[in-house]
Amino acid sequence: MIRLFTLREYRFFCYTHTRMSSFLPKSIQNLIDEFSRLPGIGPKTAERLAIHLLHSPHSKIVGLGESVLNMKEGVEFCAKCWHLADDSLCHVCRDEARNRGVICVVEHVLDVVAIEKSRAFSGVYHVLHGVLSPMDGIGPEDLKLYELEKRVKEGDVREVVLAVNPSVEGETTALYITKMLRPYEGVRVTRIARGLPVGGELGYADESTISRAIVGRMGVE
Ligand SMILES: [Zn+2]
Repeated sequence: MIRLFTLREYRFFCYTHTRMSSFLPKSIQNLIDEFSRLPGIGPKTAERLAIHLLHSPHSKIVGLGESVLNMKEGVEFCAKCWHLADDSLCHVCRDEARNRGVICVVEHVLDVVAIEKSRAFSGVYHVLHGVLSPMDGIGPEDLKLYELEKRVKEGDVREVVLAVNPSVEGETTALYITKMLRPYEGVRVTRIARGLPVGGELGYADESTISRAIVGRMGVE
């Protein structure tokens, strides 16, 4: 029986075949390989980026290298909300004008960026750094759940807005947090409205969709 290649298999074959017969110097091939490992970068784009850098002035290459190193060494996690920060606290937690009584719980740091761009939220955040996923071995101790409960316990929190993505793992996480915070009577747990498509990611939604989802948030039983 003749079995045709899928497009993915064909591309992989072309890529590995090209690599094996590559006449590029090893240093450039190494850079192409590094770029190819980045999310959203295919082999062709990796090649274009490497060749682009090869033709760039030396000062630009040094600047790029320093930016990558500084990003890794100069960034830390906010001691309160676990968003990225230049210092011990992130720009949101440092802002006196933010409403500290309302905490918006998100999965990843890019969700904070997406919500901030929508300008629909004036409270503070809590970044979980993932969602519960028993299949992948990710349990409550792997996320910043204990830290969230600690904030609720210690702070003057009135509302916790769950802005986790509407995936199975997101729903499981939302349910876990709702149960975890049930003993705290003065704290209302809400969920952002379903303006987001099921299975859609917050970080990819447009600003007006995020804005509508936050404004239309509802209480969780
Ligand atoms: Zn913070």
